[in-house]
Amino acid sequence: MSSSNENTTSSSGSEQSDSRNDTLDFIEKLSDVPMGKLPPHIDFQRTRVDCKADAPIHTDTFQYSGAYASMGVDNSLLDSFSSNFRVEVIRLEKDEMEFDMIGIDPAIANAFRRILIAEVPTMAIERVLIANNTSVIQDEVLSHRLGLIPIKADPRLFEFTENNAANEKNTIVFGLKVRCEKQGKRKGPKREGQEQDGQTRITVKSKDLVWLPNGSNFALESEGSSSNSSSKPKTYTSFTCSQDSLPEFSSNPVGPTDGDITIARLGPGQEIELEALAVKGIGKTHAKWSPVAPAWYRMLPEVIILKDIEDELAEKLVATCPVKVFDIEDIGNGKKRATVARPRKCTLCRECIREGKGWEDSLSLRRVKDHFIFTIESTGVLPPEVLFTEAVKILQDKCERAITDLC
Ligand code: SF4
Repeated sequence: MSSSNENTTSSSGSEQSDSRNDTLDFIEKLSDVPMGKLPPHIDFQRTRVDCKADAPIHTDTFQYSGAYASMGVDNSLLDSFSSNFRVEVIRLEKDEMEFDMIGIDPAIANAFRRILIAEVPTMAIERVLIANNTSVIQDEVLSHRLGLIPIKADPRLFEFTENNAANEKNTIVFGLKVRCEKQGKRKGPKREGQEQDGQTRITVKSKDLVWLPNGSNFALESEGSSSNSSSKPKTYTSFTCSQDSLPEFSSNPVGPTDGDITIARLGPGQEIELEALAVKGIGKTHAKWSPVAPAWYRMLPEVIILKDIEDELAEKLVATCPVKVFDIEDIGNGKKRATVARPRKCTLCRECIREGKGWEDSLSLRRVKDHFIFTIESTGVLPPEVLFTEAVKILQDKCERAITDLC
């Protein structure tokens, strides 16, 4: 009995295998499924997001390397990444940069965005020593405002403080001393248009923050009372030398990125005297250390005209698009045709494919899944191109750490 069962099982197994082989043979012989190449409609789903009037479709990315193994296509990222990846800078300004990152997975583009926002270190005011504040702004609100002022100081020249004492390698000290005289005259550095007779209020700006390269001038309270008059009283920082004597700072002047940021308004007789200590940190701890405002990306838009749109309809289409993606070309005999002139500008508002407009079957809106238009807007602490290279270094460090942990 048992031998007969085995024979039955083995014969049904071979029948199944024969039928699978027949199916594979059949698939291989189909004209639109050549082995080693994806059929156009699957390739479209793999590489494009199709934006329909109601919602986008095919939004997934296929990360599994064997996703198309049955069609003889290797979907592993590394091979295509090393041969296709490139970065093209489109626009580079002092504080803003736009570039295309091509041949990359959305997860990696997003990793760069998140590193830029939360992990590239900068210097920001963390401690404020307030000697006098008679303005209407409470000490904590004043300190918070000071913390949010972007500081132009190359963070690569500084160390993280952790529990160390404030020294010339980890801290920048700024002093602020402004008083509004009762007569309306202002003490301290003169500013244009601010010292006219009769003026009763003054505005304290970020340019009033004065860099103190020798560290704090405020004596520690416990030291101040006990020290004798001949020894130099201990202060809130322990600088062993002046920061402006260090070669790193000769070409890197320290100060707020913008001198016109309002800190407070002072009325007659009011005054602020304080010292602000800036240290190195990252945006993950507090947004004040984030070097970008902000960093973002979008996938490259693709606008395709499937059927010619002519004459009146073409003119209507051009007028419909709010960002002027379409133009009109003359095709002779007094006829006109709509063309796609500026596809990169498409914001995907979908106005042109909205039902009832008449173009939903003539237009196709897509996004290229591996082509990202990346924009970095720096707060001014570092140029945007430097921020990006720092983000690359941080991602590289993370990858190396992950590989070490796996080994
Ligand atoms: S989706 Fe909006 S922005 Fe894009 S082409 Fe159509 S109307 Fe213009």
